[in-house]
Amino acid sequence: MTAIDIRAGRLSQEKISENFADVHPPLKSGNAIVEANRCYFCYDAPCIDACPTAIDIPNFIRKISTGNLKGSATDILSQNIMGGMCARVCPTEILCEAACVRETQDHQPVRIGDLQRYATDRFFETGETFFERGEPTGKRIAVVGGGPAGLSCAHRLARFGHEAVVFEAHEKLSGLNEYGIAAYKTVNDFAQREVDFILQIGGIET
Ligand code: SF4
Repeated sequence: MTAIDIRAGRLSQEKISENFADVHPPLKSGNAIVEANRCYFCYDAPCIDACPTAIDIPNFIRKISTGNLKGSATDILSQNIMGGMCARVCPTEILCEAACVRETQDHQPVRIGDLQRYATDRFFETGETFFERGEPTGKRIAVVGGGPAGLSCAHRLARFGHEAVVFEAHEKLSGLNEYGIAAYKTVNDFAQREVDFILQIGGIET
């Protein structure tokens, strides 16, 4: 039996970079438009029912097809503020894409996850935000845990005008997204960039 080489430091820096590169490279503009136009924009879309966060998938895809990327990102992030990370790590092949009628019809679902990433990445690149804090309610609410659920909760509280105070044991926020996902799925420090976007709304103490 041939021994497996597991010596530390056996790989070159170049090889390590190659191994940890983005496992699913993002769609380019032209490909995204073509892919968006594969969607039938179903009225009673089964993909929405299959999405754990019930994102209005045909609507955000329609907006990609018409070049309205901000509108598309609004549809996604209003429903799921962590839609950028979910686009990278969600098992779409057993959720929305498994339910897609194009999977049933020709065994090739619309690439919903890739399109979601396309819309949110392009929006993040602008540095804009469309979320605003609601009128202050004077309420100050503790959120225990600064992972995906805690941060999503804090962001929604801020939208309603409450002050949120997030208690997190780890040095960095984002929990599983920061500490539990393989680096090649979330390159370029995406977890931290998403946290920065969430905190942009203000009214969230960490
Ligand atoms: S089921 Fe597929 S084709 Fe229908 S709206 Fe959803 S993504 Fe589009």
